[in-house]
Amino acid sequence: MVRAIFKGVILVIPILLVSVAEAATPKPIWAQSVEEIASRVNKVRAGDDLTPKQWPGGKKVAVSLSFDVDTEPVWMGFQGQSSPSYMSRGEYGARAGMPRIMKLLEKHQIPATFFIPALSMELHPQVVPMIQKNPRNEIGFHSYAHENPMTLTPEQERATYAKAMAIFLRHTGKRPTGFRSAAWDLTESTISIVQEMGFVYESSMMADDRPYVLLADGKDTGLVEIPVEWILDDWPLFQLSWPTKHVALRRADDVYEIWKAEFDGALKDGSIFILTMHPQVIGHRERMAMLDRLVSYMKSKPGVWFATHEEIAHYVKR
Ligand SMILES: [Zn+2]
Repeated sequence: MVRAIFKGVILVIPILLVSVAEAATPKPIWAQSVEEIASRVNKVRAGDDLTPKQWPGGKKVAVSLSFDVDTEPVWMGFQGQSSPSYMSRGEYGARAGMPRIMKLLEKHQIPATFFIPALSMELHPQVVPMIQKNPRNEIGFHSYAHENPMTLTPEQERATYAKAMAIFLRHTGKRPTGFRSAAWDLTESTISIVQEMGFVYESSMMADDRPYVLLADGKDTGLVEIPVEWILDDWPLFQLSWPTKHVALRRADDVYEIWKAEFDGALKDGSIFILTMHPQVIGHRERMAMLDRLVSYMKSKPGVWFATHEEIAHYVKR
């Protein structure tokens, strides 16, 4: 009897193991139905184009410069690096890059949007008052420690953003309007957390180069998407990052040509031109001179509205 039960258990265990393994392994893409794939693809999609007929004061294009002040957390949180050399690269952003950026914005009398991880605010508390000297500048939400959201459970993601928000409020004294995820990576829970937190706009998606309504599971989230693009980001064009084997180091003149052509296109379309830069990347001499030249070029065109992401989001949401 005991032997029979024992035999039965031996037979049942492998069957159980197989079905658990089957349940845990997702089906490969080629084995899934279009409906199964579409349910994942449609988690977050682009809705209506929100480009207005004209921009404030009859302007033809909206230009918004954003700076992600990621300092050390971009290396620690995202790339798992904490050696003094990597930390010094983050420090460069706050110490050398930020004063140069503030000087350039002041020279041209234009505002900008700054996305700052809460941990960077704690490590470099002088950065927030530097930005707030111009009340038109905007500070947006950008994670706690530039942690990769893909490594978090929904509960961990929610708790981490709540912790970051408390620090954000303590440093800035103001609730952020805009959300940008770390490294533009989102989980399937991110958008619902962003909705719960009461943001007006999101800025990590790439479904268009015009502002649009952000849909989740086919429904309007109420969020405006201010889309980004890797070709409009200084990191992939200029950065050197051994851990990710990414070596770009393009000449600033090459990047000027890409960004100028993208701006010319945005002006022709009457839409938006959004740049994402990092003080530790763009803040170097040659690159800052290029940015100065680009802003001068854009200012030389009639009908350019230099605005923050927040101003654009509010304007297109009317
Ligand atoms: Zn970032």
